Order: sequence, then structure tokens, then C-alpha cells
Amino acid sequence: SRAALFEGGDKVKITFKDVAGLEEAKEEVQEIVEFLKNPSKFTVLGGKIPKGALLVGPPGTGKTLLAKAVAGEADVPFFSLSGSDFVEMFVGVGAARVRDLFKQAKAKAPCIIFIDEIDAIGRSRSRGNVPGGNDERENTLNSLLVEMDGFGTDSGVIILAATNRPDTLDSALLRPGRFDRQISVDKPDIIGRTQIFGVHLKPLALSPDVDAKKLAAQTPGFAGAEIANVCNEAALIAARRDKKMVTMQDFQDAIDRVIGGLEKKNKLIS
Ligand code: ATP
Repeated sequence: SRAALFEGGDKVKITFKDVAGLEEAKEEVQEIVEFLKNPSKFTVLGGKIPKGALLVGPPGTGKTLLAKAVAGEADVPFFSLSGSDFVEMFVGVGAARVRDLFKQAKAKAPCIIFIDEIDAIGRSRSRGNVPGGNDERENTLNSLLVEMDGFGTDSGVIILAATNRPDTLDSALLRPGRFDRQISVDKPDIIGRTQIFGVHLKPLALSPDVDAKKLAAQTPGFAGAEIANVCNEAALIAARRDKKMVTMQDFQDAIDRVIGGLEKKNKLIS
């Protein structure tokens, strides 16, 4: 819930098979899974395990899903918070929440901390500060930096953070020993979309005419979140029509509806 400000500590069931496409990103985070499972294998020669990695990509491409899958694959607890929850926070609260989160995470290590929308806290301190300032945001960022520096490479806590604006991040966050690795989580191409349809078609009662490849061809520019949305809408449309199975026509109508929704959203923004 939003009120809790950070979630977690629970194990997750999501694994890499729930994440379609994103083969390169999965390969890169596979290493993090291994660090979590068997840290001493990597530190024996004096090497240091990275503390954090940045997942970079547009909204809805599966950054949260991938972070959860890392925790699921390693079978470790998952903690998460969203940067946007920290704006407009009372003085002292954001920083205290960050300290509290790290304390709980360290007690449950090995584990993953996921920070969604890190740009909301981690915006460059030298620019873009709103008039009137947001000192609490800066306090929160500072406490995050202090916490990251404060735990050892052998603590077993790995922090994954997501952003679609890596260029706006404070350079302090990107320094060695902090988020010094970037992993791109891009929008899927037609093959990726076919695979994502594959995942989200699986739980549906489908008519034999439904074809993931054709659906992928009709949804250029869609991210995974929109594909998941199309599949769910199609099932609801078919149910409303009292059908026993979801047909290609229901998907067509769902695609139109999702495109309509996206256009409305874009109009509101521009
Ligand atoms: P945001 O930046 O908006 O938070 P995100 O990149 O974290 O987005 P998710 O929240 O992980 O995106 O994706 C939303 C939902 O879309 C997922 O729960 C999943 O159902 C679906 N989805 C997104 N990408 C994929 C993918 N690669 N494979 C399967 N499902 C996906």
C-alpha cells in the first residue's frame, strides 16, 4: 500500500519465465542472482560484489517484474519503495524511512531492495529544483547515499533501481560502489511482443484462431504493460459478449480500446 511507503520482506514467486523477451537484461541480472545465492564464490579472490544496478527504460517495459524475478530466482526477500512517494514528505520522514528500510533489509539479507522511479529522489541536486525547494527530497537522497556507502560488499543486500530518465540523476548516485551498472529494459520488438503475448495468453480460454504473432504485428510500440492490458481487456470483452472463448475479434477490439486510452493519455500530457 502507498501508506506503508515501502513494501516487503516477503519472498516472491515470480521468476525469469514470467519475464518474456528481455534476453540481454535477463543475462545481465543472472549475475546478480548468482551473487545473492553464493556470495563467497565471488569474493574469494578479493573482488567486490556490486551494491546496485540501474534498470533503465520506458514505462511498462517490465523493470519491476525483472527486479522481482531476480529475488524469485535467488529465493530471497524483496523490499520495494517508489521514489514518487517521497515527494512532498514532511521533513525528516523520507530520510528516516530509507534508514528503516535498510535496517530491515540488512536483517533479512541476502535480499533485494527495489527503488522504482529513483529519479524522483535522485534528481541532480544542482538543477531542476522547484522554486520553494524540496529539502526533504535532498535529505532522502543523502540518506540513500549514506546507507549505500555504509554497508559492506558482503552484506548480501543488492539494490536495483528503475528510471526512464538516467540523464537527470545526480552523479553521486552513479559513482563506483553505488549504481555503477546500467541495464537497459527496452520496448519489445515484434519477437519480444510475440513472447509477451505468449505469457499473457496462457491463462485465458482461447479460440483456436488466436495467434500471438498476428497480435504482435498489430501492436507496434506497445510495452509489456500494454500487452498485458490488451489480453485482460479481450477476456472481459468476450465475457461481456457471453462467449465461451476469447476470439481474435475480441483482441482486435481490445487493441483499439488500449490505443484509444493511450491517445487520450498523450492528449492530456501535451
Ligand atoms: P514502470 O516504469 O511504469 O513502473 P515497469 O517497467 O516497472 O513500469 P512493470 O510494472 O514491470 O513495468 O510491468 C507492468 C506489467 O506489465 C507487469 O506486471 C506484467 O504483467 C507486464 N509486463 C511488462 N513487461 C513484461 C515482460 N517483459 N514480460 C511479461 N510481462 C510483462
